Amino acid sequence: TVAALEELISPPVQIGYTQNLINGKFVDAASGKTFPTIDPRTGEVIAHVAEGDAEDINRGVAAARKAFDEGPWPKMTAYERSRILLKFADLVEKHNDELAALETWNNGKPFEQASKAEVPMLARLFRYYAGWADKIHGLTVPTDGQHHIQTLHEPVGVAGQIIPWNFPLLMFAWKVGPALACGNTIVLKTAEQTPLTALYAAKLFQEAGLPPGVLNVVSGFGPTAGAALASHMDVDKLAFTGSTATGKIVLELAARSNLKPVTLELGGKSPFIVCEDADVDKAVELAHFALFFNQGQCCCAGSRTFVHERVYDEFLEKAKARATRRTVGDPFKKGIEQGPQIDEDQFQKVLGYIKSGIESNATLECGGDRLGSKGYFIQPTVFSNVQDDMLIAKEEIFGPVQSILKFKDLNEVIRRANATHYGLAAGVFTKSLDVANTLSRALRVGTVWVNCFDVFDAAIPFGGYKMSGIGREKGVYSLKNYLQVKAVVTPLSNPAW
Ligand code: ADP
Repeated sequence: TVAALEELISPPVQIGYTQNLINGKFVDAASGKTFPTIDPRTGEVIAHVAEGDAEDINRGVAAARKAFDEGPWPKMTAYERSRILLKFADLVEKHNDELAALETWNNGKPFEQASKAEVPMLARLFRYYAGWADKIHGLTVPTDGQHHIQTLHEPVGVAGQIIPWNFPLLMFAWKVGPALACGNTIVLKTAEQTPLTALYAAKLFQEAGLPPGVLNVVSGFGPTAGAALASHMDVDKLAFTGSTATGKIVLELAARSNLKPVTLELGGKSPFIVCEDADVDKAVELAHFALFFNQGQCCCAGSRTFVHERVYDEFLEKAKARATRRTVGDPFKKGIEQGPQIDEDQFQKVLGYIKSGIESNATLECGGDRLGSKGYFIQPTVFSNVQDDMLIAKEEIFGPVQSILKFKDLNEVIRRANATHYGLAAGVFTKSLDVANTLSRALRVGTVWVNCFDVFDAAIPFGGYKMSGIGREKGVYSLKNYLQVKAVVTPLSNPAW
C-alpha cells in the first residue's frame, strides 16, 4: 500500500540550531558560508546551515585541546562526568518528540521509529556509558623484579569523530558516549545531509552542564571539513562511520598526518540465511525487516537473502507479497513503514542498481521504480534468481531492494556468504541449534543475529571483519578506543644507588 504523497504533514518541531557549536557558543562559519539542508520528502530546503571548513575545524580543535589540557573535563571526578551524561539522558527523554521530529524531517525515517526506538536508545546509551565513567581503572601487575607496576587508563585526548546520515542521532551516541565517559574532548563532524539533530543534542548537553569546548560540533562537507579533521595534527584519535571508500581516505589522512589511531565502521553486504527447517512466515518477516528497515539504509542490512531450495518457492511468493504490502509515504504519518531515501544522489544510485539487476537478468518480482513524482521515494523492490556475480549481489545498494539467492547445502552457503570483502553482520534463521552454532562460527562477520536481526543494545559490540572496518563500538569494547594505557614502574624498596 502506498499512502498519498501529496498532502504532507507539517513537521511538529522548530529547527533549533543551524550554526556550528564551538567552545560552548553557536557561531557562523569562519567563511560566513552556509549550505541548504533538505527535506527528503520533497527535495525542498528546510534551512541554511553554517558550512564549516578547515578553519572551523581548527577552531573546534583548539577549543577541545584547551578543554582537555587545561580542564575542567578530564580533571573532573568520574562521578561528576557520569552525572552530566545522566542529566543529558534525562533531557533527551524530555525532548524525545522534538528530537525525533527533527530526525524525521531531516532524514526521512518514520517518526514512529525515531520516537519509539532511536531517541529512547540514545538516552539508554548515554546511561550505559554514564555507568562506565567511574568504573574505568587500570591493573596492578606482578613482575619478575622488585617493582610495583600499575597501569593507568587515561583518556586519549581530543577525539575527531565523523558520522554518516543514516542514523544521525544514534551515530552521535555511539561516538560521543564512550569518548566523554573516558574523559576525552570532541570535535564532531556531522554528515552534510543531516546536520540538525546533533546540534540540537549538543545544545541539550550544554543544558546538562557540559563545560564549553568539551563537545564541539561542525557541519560541513567531507573533502573540506571532514578531511581537515582527519588530517589535523592536534587530534589524538579519529572515529569514522561511513562508506568503505571514504574510510580508506580518512585512514590514509590520519597516517600521513600524526598517525592518530583510527576506528572505522564501514559498509557491508550481509547475508541473511534462511535454512530448510525455517518457519517460512517468520523467516519472510525477519528477512524483510533485515533489508527494508530504515529505507534499506543500514550498513548491516541483510542484503543477500540466501534461501534453501526446499523452502525457496514458498519464501519467494511470501516475500514478494510482504514487500508489496509495505506502507510507503510521509514518514510523519502513522503506520508508515518506509519514508524517502536520503537525497537525490542516493535515490539515483539505488535506481541505478535496480536497472543493473534487471539488465543482468535477475527476476524483478515487484517494485523497480520511484514512487510519486517528488521527493526520494522508491518502491519496495524484490529480485529473485539473483546470482553471486551480479552487481546487486556484490555491491552495497543502501536502498529498499531485496536480492534473493537460492542455496542447496550448508557448506555451500558458508562459502558463498563469506565470498565478499565485507564482513559486518549476518542473519541466520533456523530451528536447529547445531546449524546455528555451525554458521555462527563459520561466518566471518562482526555480528551474527540468530533468529533475530538489528538488535542494538548499548552493551553489544558492533563492528566489522575485513573491509567492513577496524575496531568495535558500543559495550565495554568501545572504551578501549578512547583510552591510553600508561605503565608506572616503581622499585619496591629504595634503589641501591
Ligand atoms: P555516503 O557516501 O554514504 O554519504 P561517506 O562515507 O562519503 O558516505 O560519508 C560519511 C561521512 O564521511 C560524512 O560525514 C561525510 O561528510 C564524510 N566524508 C566524506 N568524504 C570525506 C573525506 N574525504 N574526508 C573526511 N570525511 C569525509
